[in-house]
Amino acid sequence: MKPKTPQVPKLGKSNKFIIVIVGLLLLAGLFTILSPLAGDDKAESVSITKIVSLFDEQKLVTVSVDDLTIVAEDTEGNKYKATRSSTDSIAELGFYKTGNPANVTIEDNRMNKLIAGIFSSLIPFAFILIVLVFILKQAQGNANSAFSFGQSKAKLNDKEKNKTTFKDVAGAAEAKEDLGDVVDFLKNPKKYSKMGAKIPKGVLLYGPPGTGKTLLARAVAGEANVPFYTISGSEFVEMFVGVGASRVRDLFKKAKRSAPSIIFIDEIDAVGRQRGTGMGGGHDEREQTLNQILTEMDGFEVDTSVIIMASTNRPDVLDPALLRPGRFDRRVVIDRPNMQEREEILVAHSKNKPIEKGVDVTSIAKKIPGFTGADIENLLNESAILAVKRNRKDISLAEMNESIEKVSLGPQRKSSRLNSYEKKLTAYHELGHALVGHMLPHCDPVHKVSIISRGMALGVTWFLPTEDVKLQSKQKFLDDISSLLGGRVAEEVFYGADNITTGASNDLERASEVARNMVTHFGMTSALGHMVVETRKNVFLGRDLGESKVYGNETAQVIDQEVRTILDKAYAITKEIILKHKDLMDKMCADLLIKEEFSEEDFAQYFVSAKVKIPVKIGVERAKD
Ligand code: ADP
Ligand code: MG
Ligand code: ZN
Repeated sequence: MKPKTPQVPKLGKSNKFIIVIVGLLLLAGLFTILSPLAGDDKAESVSITKIVSLFDEQKLVTVSVDDLTIVAEDTEGNKYKATRSSTDSIAELGFYKTGNPANVTIEDNRMNKLIAGIFSSLIPFAFILIVLVFILKQAQGNANSAFSFGQSKAKLNDKEKNKTTFKDVAGAAEAKEDLGDVVDFLKNPKKYSKMGAKIPKGVLLYGPPGTGKTLLARAVAGEANVPFYTISGSEFVEMFVGVGASRVRDLFKKAKRSAPSIIFIDEIDAVGRQRGTGMGGGHDEREQTLNQILTEMDGFEVDTSVIIMASTNRPDVLDPALLRPGRFDRRVVIDRPNMQEREEILVAHSKNKPIEKGVDVTSIAKKIPGFTGADIENLLNESAILAVKRNRKDISLAEMNESIEKVSLGPQRKSSRLNSYEKKLTAYHELGHALVGHMLPHCDPVHKVSIISRGMALGVTWFLPTEDVKLQSKQKFLDDISSLLGGRVAEEVFYGADNITTGASNDLERASEVARNMVTHFGMTSALGHMVVETRKNVFLGRDLGESKVYGNETAQVIDQEVRTILDKAYAITKEIILKHKDLMDKMCADLLIKEEFSEEDFAQYFVSAKVKIPVKIGVERAKD
């Protein structure tokens, strides 16, 4: 990268313009000062005493006195003019004698004029001064910005402006509790130091993107009512070497000056990656920055009440030195919200939105497993936009449902028209997934079957878990593989083995991946036993590049064999189910072509009508207790 050369201030067009204006103003000032010297040429120039004596002789008709001159006219029409000296007063001139026929007009605002004159002649100078200061400032500014890279760009959030508190964070009860200590410490540091208790200097918030880490950090500052310096990890990394480190120094200096305070380094993984990996071009700059952070954290005096918070969604890539005791030793996990929390977030974010009365928030929260706070915010926003488009007064369940589908499955593409052959094949394909999923106890319940195109998919079968599951069983993997194969098998059964299509390519990829993970990551096959042969330590490099494979060719063969076996077994199960319910599939397909979409209830009804016995869903079972 080319280093930026510091800019030398140049006289731009606007500056030249300013100089011309200043010149003109100076000239104008000069004229106004000189102009009174020019006078009435008809009048005879005389001395003041001459006019005064004419006045005394009662020979004058008019006398007009102004600041600088006296003009008089006598009975014969002669005009006289005299220049007043700067000292004489009107009283001294003695034009007031009563009974004199002359018409005397006096207009002496010499004092006013004098002041005005002084000011008007000052204006250009003031103007020049302003321009000069302006130009100087600019030059200085340019020079400064060349040398101020080292200053931190941290934004200080004013106590007054930052009104985020824990109330704004819905759910996340445990995280709030953990952070409550930090708040308490910032509020009463003495209480802790008296007891000899050391409060962690560093608090690392980690969890998936959009779960509210930044929001929580802000809330801590708001609760404690202290200054909050926020900087993003990537802002440390600049093109100049050494800049990051000096920015860190500057940031810590500022924060210490306004202690108690909080420094928040958002997305710290941008600088805090493990050093010495040589990846990413062995960024020397990043290492220096990281070292500086470590040094600063160690350099704090015991009673400095500055707390450093950081957030990341990749704690696994952080340098271990950052995580050791005394640094970011307090770690707060912020996970995706569970059903209850999703409901709370929904309520929190719909406060400023008119939601139709009677909309069941709980049922919506159920429909969006895995959604983060940010997703939910987005979902409500989409619904609001949709409501506006429909000229509604409020947001109804219909808009919400549509937005959920849009966010989870992709936007509908009604325009991409399939021909009737493709449409029918897609219907069989999707029903294949749905049927197999419905008949296997470990698959999630079918929530929707649709042959309306969405994104790249020609149709969708939407499975929705009834609860948030953290552990996956081997049997669930196997059942899922079967239902993934359901699409391809349906094509095969209804159209013949030679007419299968590319529509299943993604299904097969996913099925193979699940099978492969079972073998290599989860130790779920007998051939390899409990041996895990692939680890994902370096996930940040992209899965494949970073995956460390620790096996030889022979093991590779065994793995392939095992994956193949899993897929074959699942295929057999899938085929059996579809062949058994061929008639039901035909019936459902005919209806789906007309309706285009089956809801959960529509779909389940076919099985009730056909008196097909459905196994109890394991997920549903678990949700009961
Ligand atoms: P992260 O930093 O974890 O990626 P953010 O804190 O930036 O996520 O959150 C993004 C947005 O999602 C926030 O602005 C907020 O509106 C919303 N959000 C996330 N979690 C919550 C929550 N628990 N309660 C309320 N809003 C949330
Ligand atoms: Mg964030
Ligand atoms: Zn499919």
